Amino acid sequence: MVPWCMSKTIILYNTASKKEEVFTPIETDKVAIYSCGPTVYHYPHLGNLRAVVFADTLRRMFMFAGYSVTHIINITDVGHLTSDSDDGDDKMEKGAAREGKSVWDIAKFYTDDYFNSLKLLNIPLDAYTFPRATDTIPEQIALIQSLVDKGYTYTITDGIYFDTSKFPSYADFAHLDIKGLQSGARVTENAKKKNITDFALWKFSPKDEQRQMEWDSPWGKGFPGWHIECSAMSKKILGPHFDIHTGGIDHIPVHHTNEIAQSVCANDEKYVNYWMHVNFLNDASGKMSKSNGDFLRLQTLLEMNIDPLVYRYYLLMTHYRAEIAFSFESLHAAETAYNKLIAYLHEHRDSEGVVIESYKNAFEDAMYNDLGTPTAIALIWKLIKDTTCNDADKVSTIFDFDSTLGLGLKEQSEKKDEIVIIPDEIQKLLNERKTAKENKDYNHSDQLRTEIEKRGYIITDTQGEQKVTKI
Ligand code: AMP
Ligand code: ZN
Repeated sequence: MVPWCMSKTIILYNTASKKEEVFTPIETDKVAIYSCGPTVYHYPHLGNLRAVVFADTLRRMFMFAGYSVTHIINITDVGHLTSDSDDGDDKMEKGAAREGKSVWDIAKFYTDDYFNSLKLLNIPLDAYTFPRATDTIPEQIALIQSLVDKGYTYTITDGIYFDTSKFPSYADFAHLDIKGLQSGARVTENAKKKNITDFALWKFSPKDEQRQMEWDSPWGKGFPGWHIECSAMSKKILGPHFDIHTGGIDHIPVHHTNEIAQSVCANDEKYVNYWMHVNFLNDASGKMSKSNGDFLRLQTLLEMNIDPLVYRYYLLMTHYRAEIAFSFESLHAAETAYNKLIAYLHEHRDSEGVVIESYKNAFEDAMYNDLGTPTAIALIWKLIKDTTCNDADKVSTIFDFDSTLGLGLKEQSEKKDEIVIIPDEIQKLLNERKTAKENKDYNHSDQLRTEIEKRGYIITDTQGEQKVTKI
């Protein structure tokens, strides 16, 4: 008998071929995934969390399809530099200076915070291996050594570099225009590098300065370049050739391009079969990033009484390859929908039903088609409205789907009493009050607040948004 996981085809978009491809695992019924994780010098912002929610949904989809999944998320706790071109400040040392702590304390604090965010987003820690870059220095040194031995490197004053001209297909993955890069190079670019795209494998510690993080190596005291850690950690745990590698689209032209070059050259075999990249979550200024220090994080949402699972629902409403322009307005719309869903499940949670096969088929078609989460969510609403199915079966079917979506629907529907469903007429008054405030018509906005309170709801204004609780 064909195992049932093989009975449906899984299609994934592969950045390497720029095409949707049928997924074929290296080992039957098994999938090995490596996801680039956080640099732990600051809190994760909502964009970083988009990347990990995507990775977790991918893992859940494979579990749903019957695969056994090995999934790695690395923790970058050794300072890579603020610039992709191997100069600039060390991010970890920068974080340590900002807070007057040691780099090791900074790494521990922000790793713990990251784990906490994952738990709040229903990402089970025990489903993953989380290797730390600082725990795999010998493996990184061994990989660099094999590149040195094979003649792929050269040494200049500040470190050992990978010579990208020795890997002829270097530009292919990201379709790089090397000539264009060369002419657009900044004046500050390391002039001793042979080619603009060459990158550091090992950086030497400055002679006159003791770094907080440095290690002995065959080439002297120093620290690894950023890219080598992912090649070394994935090789250590998954072997030199594995199924899927994920990360944000920012990693395509440099980090993942460099990973491919050094892994293929060191191991003499293909590195990864499917590369999957999640698009950006943007704020008003563009790509949300940690370096400007002023960013939205899960704590911001918690302070506004927004459940992190609402954020997960919000993310899944957009396909992972599409950009999201973050706004509180759209997040609140997702909150209303999520709460309505929980209210429905709460009302019917005690009835025992069966999974409706036709809906399950449609759900699988959506999820196995390059993780079509928006279609999968729309299907849930279609099912709720379907008068030909009974509520018990609907609830069982939705709970079954949620093992893939990870929205915590069962647990949430059991504690629904804390959730406020805002009736349409209150929402209208809230919209009116928002407009009044934008027009600085504070008398009218106060009148509306009183009116809303009379109808049983209290408003708290946080971060320019109106949060509503029941009296
Ligand atoms: P970092 O902590 O900056 O090394 O990033 C961790 C992960 O988040 C990487 O996979 C990045 O590509 C991803 N990432 C960073 N910024 C964003 C963003 N604004 N939207 C989506 N993913 C992002
Ligand atoms: Zn990486």
